[in-house]
This record gives sequence, C-alpha cells and structure tokens, in this order.
Amino acid sequence: MSWTKEQWSTYSKKYYRLHREEILRKQKEQRAGPDGDRLRKIGAEQNRKWRAANHDEVLAEKRAYRERNRDKIRERDNKFREEHREERRAAEKIYRQEHREEINKRSRERAARIREEKRIEEASYYEEHPEETEAEREAEREARIEAKKEWAHSYYEKNKESIREYRAAKAWQRVEYDAEYHEANRERIAARKRLRYSEDPAKFIAKTIARRAARLGAPEESLAEIEEIYRQAKERKTLRCYLCNRLIPLGDRHVDHIFPASKGGPTRPSNLAVACSKCNLKKSAKLPEEIGLLL
Ligand SMILES: [Zn+2]
Repeated sequence: MSWTKEQWSTYSKKYYRLHREEILRKQKEQRAGPDGDRLRKIGAEQNRKWRAANHDEVLAEKRAYRERNRDKIRERDNKFREEHREERRAAEKIYRQEHREEINKRSRERAARIREEKRIEEASYYEEHPEETEAEREAEREARIEAKKEWAHSYYEKNKESIREYRAAKAWQRVEYDAEYHEANRERIAARKRLRYSEDPAKFIAKTIARRAARLGAPEESLAEIEEIYRQAKERKTLRCYLCNRLIPLGDRHVDHIFPASKGGPTRPSNLAVACSKCNLKKSAKLPEEIGLLL
C-alpha cells in the first residue's frame, strides 16, 4: 500500500523537524560547493513558490515574528531614525520645497474639509438644541459688538483731540457728500429702510428713535423711556388717541411728536404721544419720515 500525499507531507515535516540542524548544515555545504549557484536558484525558486501558495501562513508568520520581537524592532527603528535624523530633515525640506503647491493645496483642502465637518456637526447640534444654540450665538454676537464698541470708545478717548480737529475740518465736505449721496441713492436707501423695517419693525423703530433722539439732543437716560413708549404703543390691548380720544386698533397707531419734530420739537418722553392715523394725517405739519407707524 502506497502513501497518500498528506501522509508524505506529514512525514517530511516530521523528518525535517527532527533533522533540521543536519539538513541546514548539508544545504550550506552544497551551496558553498561548485554547484552552489544552481542549487541556490532552485532553493530560491522553491521558496518563492511555497510562499506564493501559502500566503496566509507567511503573513501569519511575519505577524508572529513582529509580535515576538516587538521591542527589538521598535528599538531598531528608533535607532535608525536617530541615526538618520539630519538626512531625513534635509530630505523633508527639499520635498516641501519641491511640492509646495501640492502641499498647500492639500492643507487647504484639509482645512476646508474640517470646516465643512464642523459646519455639519454644528448644524446637527443646532437642530437638536435650537434654543440653546440661538442663545449662545446671540451672546457671542453681543459680546463681539460690545468689544467693538469698547475698542471704538477707547480709541476715541485716546485720540479725541485729533478726531475732533479732523471732523471739524471735514464737516462741510461731509454735509455736501451726504446730500449728494442721498440724492443719488434715494430709491436704494428707501428700499433698504423698508427691508429693515419688514425684517424687525421693533428693532428698526428703536434704532430710528435712538438716531433721531441723538440728533435732537435727547438725553441718553431717556432713551429707555422712549423705547418703552413705542413698545407700549405697539403692544397694549387698549389705547386711546391723544387727539380724538377714540380707541385705536392695533396696526393703526402712530407715535406722534406733540410739538412737531420738523419745527424743532424734541424727541423726549414728554413730547411724545400716540395718535390714530386719521388724526396723525390731519396733523400734517410733519414729514412722512417723522411718523413712526407701528404694526
Ligand atoms: Zn385720533
């Protein structure tokens, strides 16, 4: 009865294990002999074939080797890096110089990718926590505006004299320029005002009051009071016209200067009252932009 292939294989493995030293010694002797080149080639070819046929085993063996010799390998790598540090740095420098465009492009792309990831992350966070995020953003916005104001204020304080001199010298020029600008951009300015108003009427009105009050010299401490008048006029359920004493429905309320602003009436709490649109129109000493229509 002859052996199967498996039996032969098992046998030869066992034999090899038992006589390893001897086999290797004989191989070495033969390869050092006159026929060495041919034998080495045959051996290399056999090895190559075996490795190709037993790929997984080879990889496993490599892994096991690395596992067994981890410290040794790390030490060797570190030593190599240590010994070739200067060379590596020089090579890297040259590489960077030669590939600057490419490297810059890559880093720009990476930055854009990170920005985009952050944006997506923030967007999803925003979706899950809309109120907190809005509050956070609002706080950030306010902090930025506050910092800007502080900076502008301290800049002004430091350079008060020269700023005043500069403004005085340019005052007439500015008046001329403003007039020209308004003349040339009348439509655009009106459209912008309409847009601001439609976006946030209360804010628009508050800003307009603040500007107007500043122009008319309203004391700063009464600004809050003036805002309160506008707020009340807008939000109160019942409100009577100070001229005809009728109840004014929401959306038909006007904050009126008792003594017209166009004739020098100050924007002060004591000079403001709420009128219905009928009375307000009758009282036509005012220009349209002096009427604060409330929704
Ligand atoms: Zn009225």
